[in-house]
Amino acid sequence: MDKKITVLRGDGIGPEVVGEAVRVLEAVGKKFGHNFEFTYADIGGCAIDRCGEPLPQKTIEDCLAADSVLLGAVGGPKWDGLAGDKRPEKGLLGIRKAMGLYANLRPAKLFPQLADASPLRREIVEKGIDFVVVRELIGGVYFGAHTTEEVNGEMVATDVMPYAEHEIERIVRVAAGIALKRRKKLTSVDKANVLDTSRLWRKVAHRVMEEYSEIEFSDMLVDNTAMQIVKNPAQFDVVVTENMFGDILTDEASMITGSIGMIPSASLGDGTLGLYEPIHGSAPDIAGQDKANPIGTILSAAMMLRYSFDLAAEADAIENAVAAALDAGLRTADSMAPGCTLVGCRAMGDAVVQRI
Ligand code: NAD
Repeated sequence: MDKKITVLRGDGIGPEVVGEAVRVLEAVGKKFGHNFEFTYADIGGCAIDRCGEPLPQKTIEDCLAADSVLLGAVGGPKWDGLAGDKRPEKGLLGIRKAMGLYANLRPAKLFPQLADASPLRREIVEKGIDFVVVRELIGGVYFGAHTTEEVNGEMVATDVMPYAEHEIERIVRVAAGIALKRRKKLTSVDKANVLDTSRLWRKVAHRVMEEYSEIEFSDMLVDNTAMQIVKNPAQFDVVVTENMFGDILTDEASMITGSIGMIPSASLGDGTLGLYEPIHGSAPDIAGQDKANPIGTILSAAMMLRYSFDLAAEADAIENAVAAALDAGLRTADSMAPGCTLVGCRAMGDAVVQRI
């Protein structure tokens, strides 16, 4: 298989963690006989420094011309003083929009080797945590009208939460597609006892899911879901929900799996082009010191193979290599535990590459 991957290293630890993920992809390509061609483009602070804007047109073109995109992280104190639309983070929102990405996937997977890093009790963790939250990314209350006005002598603020049927239908289809590649269980999360948007969400979700009889499908109210994620996370396989509920639940779900440096993410739209990135930021406090944990970015590369290129065995190879490196007791500083061996970003990348 020949695939073009555009690489956006970004700022801070971005270049370090992305460098390791690229080496892992090269090792997978060599082992399985694929040719991955990498094109590098600027985004965020480094793009501001070189081109005067966080998302140069050339970067958009390189991303749209690729089969998939791998991103590090953007931002840092150097650019904090810039006006809102000139800030590095604007590049992120811009590229998601330009690529038409409306589905955000965040796995919550606890490697058993890191069980002690989870804030949950051991007996809950032991049942296993391995689910994916699929969050609608470009609709709902974050994108509805926002107004603040004076009414009867006091200020009144209103945020509108619109959802159209097609927006619900397409995200439920993405989630169903992911469930088919996993344990075939899908939970749709809403607040249908109160919100009209949720009642429409539920109706459309049920209509779509009639086409997927092989998937075990159910609804759950968002408040109950927040409880169940800490009480019995083993029950979940794929969770699909709207933008704001997803924003909150994905942070909760990532917390229960330990270090922020370990967690990958994917953003998808129609078709197979996706944007894959770790959930952490540019960590300016440790940038350039070979201390960053590259595993979140390496696992993002595994998601790219699984969801954009349909290469399940190759994605498994990466995930197994990461597990084997952790089994060998190797840890970066953020996840260090007694009895383990402290390694840097590069050495962790080496350890994964060796185990592919
Ligand atoms: P951050 O995620 O960069 O860092 C939070 C803490 O976690 C820091 O102590 C950092 O050292 C640590 N950490 C993060 N990733 C790590 C890794 N891979 N290995 C080891 N430790 C790691 O969040 P922040 O400090 O709030 O933000 C720093 C900058 O990143 C800001 O400019 C912010 O706007 C930006 N940011 C970017 C993204 C993105 O690009 N998607 C996301 C969040 C924040």
